[in-house]
Amino acid sequence: MLEFLIAGLLLLIIHFGEPVYYFMYVKGNKLNISPVYSEPPKVSIIIPTYNEGDKIREKIKNVLDSYPNDYMEILVVDSSNDGTDEIVKTMGIPQIRIIKEEKRKGKIFAVKEGIRNAKNNLVIITDADAIWENPLINAVKFLGGEIGAVSCIKSANSETENAYRNFYNVIRLGESAIFATPIFHGEMTAFRKDIINDKDLPNVGADDSTIATLTAIKGFRAICVKDFLAKEIAPKGLDYVSWKMRRGSHLVRHFFRNLSKVLKSNNQYFKKIFVEEFYLHIINPWLLVLGILFLAIGNIEVFSILLILLLISLVSSKTREAIRAWIPNQFFLILAQLFATKGEVLAWKKEKK
Ligand code: GDP
Ligand code: MN
Repeated sequence: MLEFLIAGLLLLIIHFGEPVYYFMYVKGNKLNISPVYSEPPKVSIIIPTYNEGDKIREKIKNVLDSYPNDYMEILVVDSSNDGTDEIVKTMGIPQIRIIKEEKRKGKIFAVKEGIRNAKNNLVIITDADAIWENPLINAVKFLGGEIGAVSCIKSANSETENAYRNFYNVIRLGESAIFATPIFHGEMTAFRKDIINDKDLPNVGADDSTIATLTAIKGFRAICVKDFLAKEIAPKGLDYVSWKMRRGSHLVRHFFRNLSKVLKSNNQYFKKIFVEEFYLHIINPWLLVLGILFLAIGNIEVFSILLILLLISLVSSKTREAIRAWIPNQFFLILAQLFATKGEVLAWKKEKK
């Protein structure tokens, strides 16, 4: 069973080695761009809402505090049945327009309705449950010239989720410095209507990453910036699992849908980045499962030693969080692939947060 042992070890080395290598590789790149605006440009901020009654007040305050109010309009595109729109109305903010949808169809439809109604070229989409930690100008000031779209880095309310986020924040920033990142965040996705408008967007779940990738395919840069952090609340328990699966499956479908388009485009940098991310999200998780399986078949002693090493590494808090974040996420990504075959989930069941 030596073959199984060797194959198993090799698969595990690649599984853990490739992301570490890619991390080190992109980390060395630093974004070097200058602001294109000397004073705040006018922006249209879209907040799609489905039953956000308990969060919308704080959200709107946060948005108003983040940017000079005379330079913004806020479009709340609402399909709630919990009175979210009423709460917004009673706040009496002149910058806000509420667009009430007749029927709940899913976030992407609300986003496209918002884009159609936006008066300004610079559009920002933001989820109602996301809180911005920095002034919006930190991101918006770059939105011109070769930069077509800008997103944030992210933190969450759990240590484990944050260990995973911190790893990917560094990757997003590194890819942005090289050219563009194919993954954006719904907490803050800013883009230019002269590059992407509602007709460019298919009816899919990953509206944020779709905007990033289409921007890059059109030859513009889609970047995440380090001076703009958004916080999100991760659900707990079973809701956490279904949240991970839904988002994972959106991402899986995003990668499959755009692979051939990216390969046909002619930006060598973005091609490499996209293919690497495709590998990390779609293929690499399987190497972990196969590696463990082969090892167990090949040599139970080596398998046991590795298991013991793994348990020992759980003692140090730093490696513990890294492992606790990484390994479950690999299984979520595999499950997400199975989930993704069921088709696009556009109007999802709301998780408790
Ligand atoms: P997650 O961040 O991927 O967990 O997705 P959320 O459930 O937080 O949804 C992101 C944003 O889209 C939130 O502001 C939701 O209220 C909003 N949203 C989700 N589904 C719909 C919908 O069907 N219609 C509208 N108008 N907004 C929606
Ligand atoms: Mn959310």
